[in-house]
Amino acid sequence: MILVLKKGITEEEKDKLKQVLRAENCIIKEIEGVEETIFGVVGKVKKDLRHFETLPGVAKVIPISKSYKLVSRELHPEPSVINVGDVEIGGDRLVVIAGPCAVEERERTLEIARQVRKYGAVLFRGGAFKPRTSPYSFQGLGEEGLKILAEVREETGLGIVTEMTSPSQADLMIKYVDVIQIGARNMQNFELLKCVGRIGKPVLLKRGLSATIEEWLMSAEYILSEGNENVILCERGIRTFERYTRNTLDLTAVPVIKKLTHLPIIIDPSHATGLREKVSPMARAAIAAGADGIIVEVHTNPEEALSDGPQSLYPEQFKQLMRDLYVIAPVVGKQLDYAYLEKASILRKPRTDRATSRVVYHGVPGSFSHRACIQFFGENTPSQHCSSFREVFEHVDMGSASFGIVPVENSLTGSIHENYDLLLEHDLKIVGEITLRIKHNLIGKEGTSIENIRAVYSHPQVFQQCREYLEKHPEWDLVACQDTASSVQRVKEADNLHEAAIASKEAAKLYKMKVLDEGIETNPRNYTRFVVISRDDFLNGSKNKSSIIYSVSNKPGALYETLKIFADNQINLVKLESRPIHSQPWEYLFYVDLEIDIMDDEYKEILEKLKEKTEFFKILGSYRKGIEG
Ligand code: PEP
Ligand code: MN
Repeated sequence: MILVLKKGITEEEKDKLKQVLRAENCIIKEIEGVEETIFGVVGKVKKDLRHFETLPGVAKVIPISKSYKLVSRELHPEPSVINVGDVEIGGDRLVVIAGPCAVEERERTLEIARQVRKYGAVLFRGGAFKPRTSPYSFQGLGEEGLKILAEVREETGLGIVTEMTSPSQADLMIKYVDVIQIGARNMQNFELLKCVGRIGKPVLLKRGLSATIEEWLMSAEYILSEGNENVILCERGIRTFERYTRNTLDLTAVPVIKKLTHLPIIIDPSHATGLREKVSPMARAAIAAGADGIIVEVHTNPEEALSDGPQSLYPEQFKQLMRDLYVIAPVVGKQLDYAYLEKASILRKPRTDRATSRVVYHGVPGSFSHRACIQFFGENTPSQHCSSFREVFEHVDMGSASFGIVPVENSLTGSIHENYDLLLEHDLKIVGEITLRIKHNLIGKEGTSIENIRAVYSHPQVFQQCREYLEKHPEWDLVACQDTASSVQRVKEADNLHEAAIASKEAAKLYKMKVLDEGIETNPRNYTRFVVISRDDFLNGSKNKSSIIYSVSNKPGALYETLKIFADNQINLVKLESRPIHSQPWEYLFYVDLEIDIMDDEYKEILEKLKEKTEFFKILGSYRKGIEG
């Protein structure tokens, strides 16, 4: 059952209530929401539920209708994010786990790990204990295999996911492993489930060969009921009458699981299909369906693999799959981040040179800038909102924040000029970029109907992006706000059924408002590009994009001469924009983005030539476009 606590309940009253519940042998989970605190209470309660409503501090008792309790959304409405070292599973950044079916040999395993790490995997998979259908098949290297996996982690920084087949392996798992996998064949091995529940390390729980979703969630409930909330569900195909593929991938499990439980779900397209060429299409579909990530088998020499060779991708195929997922992810509101582990290790380092390593953005929580911040830096990086773009630049300039994130361009409405001017004014570097798909929604209070709306609040650019939709409602007053999320906040506070805001679904959820109409932007291919600014360089290693600003003399062909340098040297220009020079009417600065690392020694001469042909020249920064090398 769920106990909704009275507003203003004291800690002392809460403790007393917990004591009463513990005396009934209940497990209690306290969940603090924005508006209310609840106790999720699970156990064999003998007393009538009405009894609990009479306890001091309790406002309401709601029974949990499902047979699984701790894993249910009813008890835990927000999605869970499971931390494995620096990796967050269940957030906005996709998690890709890759590696061979089994650990076979040290050098080969290390080589596979290097390859998958290079192409963007953040965790490494590989079985040391293999539950094979035949007792005569390769059974895995046991502890020897775990030692090789530990070496993989040591060398590559990839956390290790490996299968546990018996409670007798508990000590080995504690010693060597980051995520314990429970295989399909063991999904209902309840002693094993209780054991991993007690170990407490994150568990990847595969769906059983013929298990229903309810049975699968009951297995997860076993783990949570032992006190371990770190469970990641993995759909790996179920047994059906169809024999063409090894199993039938039940992708409907993704939206079903998302509705029923707060636990993250990833897809294993390798065991689901059993056929190499079917793996990538199903992995792409999984991400499009809303999965939090994938676990995929990769092998450098699958013909020689001791298990599951025919379903293992070659590293090159894995690379291509990752490129596809990189493109698909923003469409469904997520990111595939090639610099995931590198960013995390840099952010983790204590910074001695400044007060704080926080990130600043313009807008309120729930704004697109806030989302960009979470998607670039992860869920746990401290962030702070500012009331203007200028303030973002000033914080970073003064060192009161290490990073700022600002939008510079929208695919439909063009550049955000204010930020281009601020980039010129401040001596800061662009150290990264991220692109977000912008989906707009009409948002109002519960009870608001579209017919009764009189005024709509949002950012002026948003009105432009929703022009066709708004033209159908000429009677609406359009009122400009600082950013999308603050427009939702404003409508909420006004408490008026004739007002609405345009913003993201996340903003609606954050402020507990209702989405009245979805996807109202004129063109669904609506993307905004944000840049990350800092005083110092951020990521080590090679960069593949640079931003510069320059002006040329007022002579015929002056701009052409600079562009010729790029053309002669096969340098791809991905943006060219002019901005007026404020003190010199009708003269312009050119903002140029290039697909090279202009700071690299290789371009030294070119840089000199450019400087010769320009009057003013400034490098805004060299950084890494999402995709690897
Ligand atoms: C595996 O991941 O190698 C494996 C044996 O998977 P499953 O338990 O899904 O068959
Ligand atoms: Mn396998």
